[in-house]
Amino acid sequence: MTQRTWRIGLTGGIGSGKSTVAGFLARRGAAIIDADAISRSLTTPGGRAMAAIASTFGESMISPDGAMNRQAMRERIFQDPQAKRQLEHIIHPLVSQVTAEQAQAALKTGHRVLVFDVPLLVESGERWRKQVDRVIVVDCDVSTQKQRVMARSGLNAEEVERIVAQQASRAQRLACADLVVFNQDLSFDGLDSLIGQVAADFGL
Ligand code: ADP
Repeated sequence: MTQRTWRIGLTGGIGSGKSTVAGFLARRGAAIIDADAISRSLTTPGGRAMAAIASTFGESMISPDGAMNRQAMRERIFQDPQAKRQLEHIIHPLVSQVTAEQAQAALKTGHRVLVFDVPLLVESGERWRKQVDRVIVVDCDVSTQKQRVMARSGLNAEEVERIVAQQASRAQRLACADLVVFNQDLSFDGLDSLIGQVAADFGL
């Protein structure tokens, strides 16, 4: 019997444990497709978005090493909201293209569960939702998010709060979930065995 293919969107607020869950799923044979990593790769030296960025925004947006000058782009977007849309217009189709290529490659190597790790899946509206069969939300309360991110990154409480405030609310994320992984008051082993059950539901 051929196993069906699952496309799963994995999301969660910063510090929820999304990357940890992705790792546990990968260990059980899921292919992880990391949307942020793809997006970043497009604007590194030689990245697929660089030619369009140079022609749309000018050479002042390109660093000497050939990467996008992030600081200059941030300032440009701050001054001109239209620039953000122009940049997204370049980046989003390329993210879709590379995502599709990675998905094809994963299927070719026999993977039947593709996990799209997308931190801002909910914020993207239908864009990611329509590409996946199920959405898994990794959830915990906001104070746990803050503690974890502060411990991990050295950011202070205010900085973490600012990031959390920019993301979808917990309620908004939960409203999009087909499945919730509640990652709180749970050891790593406890989380791992919970993910074992989730993986088994998808045939892993
Ligand atoms: P995200 O990708 O959602 O930002 P991570 O998976 O990187 O989150 O987890 C954030 C931090 O919290 C990491 O340092 C991780 O090791 C830790 N963490 C995640 N889940 C747990 C857990 N159940 N118990 C203890 N620490 C955890």
